[in-house]
Amino acid sequence: MAQGKIKTRVVGVDIGLERTTTAVVDIRGNILGKDDFPTSDYPNISDFASVLCDNIITLVQAHGGYETIRAVGISVPSGNYRTGCVVNSPNMPWKGVVPMAAMLRDRIGLAVSLGNNAHVRALGEQTYGAAHGLKDFILITLGTGMGSCLVSNGVPHLGQDGFAGEIGHCCAVPGGRQCGCGKKGCLEMYTSKKGIVMTAQELLADSDAPSLMREVDTLTLSYMIDCCEKGDEMAIEVFNRTGKTLGLALANYASVFNPEAFVFTGSVMCAGEWLLKPTEETFQEHVFRNIAGRVKFLSSELEKEEMDLLGASALAWEVEEYSLFK
Ligand SMILES: [Zn+2]
Repeated sequence: MAQGKIKTRVVGVDIGLERTTTAVVDIRGNILGKDDFPTSDYPNISDFASVLCDNIITLVQAHGGYETIRAVGISVPSGNYRTGCVVNSPNMPWKGVVPMAAMLRDRIGLAVSLGNNAHVRALGEQTYGAAHGLKDFILITLGTGMGSCLVSNGVPHLGQDGFAGEIGHCCAVPGGRQCGCGKKGCLEMYTSKKGIVMTAQELLADSDAPSLMREVDTLTLSYMIDCCEKGDEMAIEVFNRTGKTLGLALANYASVFNPEAFVFTGSVMCAGEWLLKPTEETFQEHVFRNIAGRVKFLSSELEKEEMDLLGASALAWEVEEYSLFK
C-alpha cells in the first residue's frame, strides 16, 4: 500500500487592487510566513502570473517545501469559483475573462481554486471567525464596492453561473446614480465608500447649512466619521440616509433567506454605530415580522490584514487535491 504523507498546509493568496499578498497557512489557520508585491506593477496578466508563481515558490520553499502543500486558494475581485476565471473586473487591470486558476495550476503544479472577496471571506469567517458554528448567514462586504455571500445550511450559495450574491448591483433607486456595471441606481452607489461620499456631496450642495464637511477639498470616510464624533449634524445625516438604504435592502434579503446573522466586513465598517444603528432600525422596521429581532448583526473579528488570506486558505481546503509533488 502506498504511504501518503498528509499535507497539512495550504497557500492563501489575496489579490487586491494595489497589492498581492501570499501566505503559507497551516490546518489551524496559523500564518507561517507571508510575502507581498504590488499588483498594479503588472498590467499584463502573463507577467502577473509569472511573478505570483515565483513568489509562491520562494515562500513555499522557505516554509516546509512543496511536499507539505495541499492546494492554493485565491481571493480576487470578480473571481468566479465555478470557472476559476476572473470575469470582467471593473477595477483590476486585466480585462475580459482571465483563466487565472488554470494559468497558475499549469505553472506551479498544484491545485488552485479562486473566489471573489465575499465568497472567500464567508469561508474565512465560517472557519476562523464571527460565523464559526453558524449554518445560515449572509456575509456583507462594504468597501470600494458592495458584495455578499449567502451561506445556506453551511454551504455558500453560488448560483448557476457562480455570480450569486451580487447585492451591490440590486437596484436601490430606479434611474439613480450611474454605476460602474452599466446600470443606474445600484445599491453600492449609495452604500460603498464612494456612494457615501456622493451622498455627502449632494447634501452639501442642496443647502447652505454649516458643516465641518465644507472645510476640506476631498471628503473621506474617516474625516466624515470625525465630523460625526464632533456632533456635525449633516455628517450624521449622511450615515442616517445610508443606513436607511442599507437597512431596507438587508430587510428584503433577510425576509427571503431567514439567516441567523449578517456578518459585516470591509473598510466602510469603520463607521461603526453611526452606520449600523440607523441600518438596524430600518431593518427592524421593514423585515418580515416573524424574523424581526431574530437576525444578529455581527462584525468580523478577523484582523483586516489576515481576513482575505485566511479566507483564501479556507477555500484551498475545498479544492480537490492535485499535486505534481508527492
Ligand atoms: Zn451596478
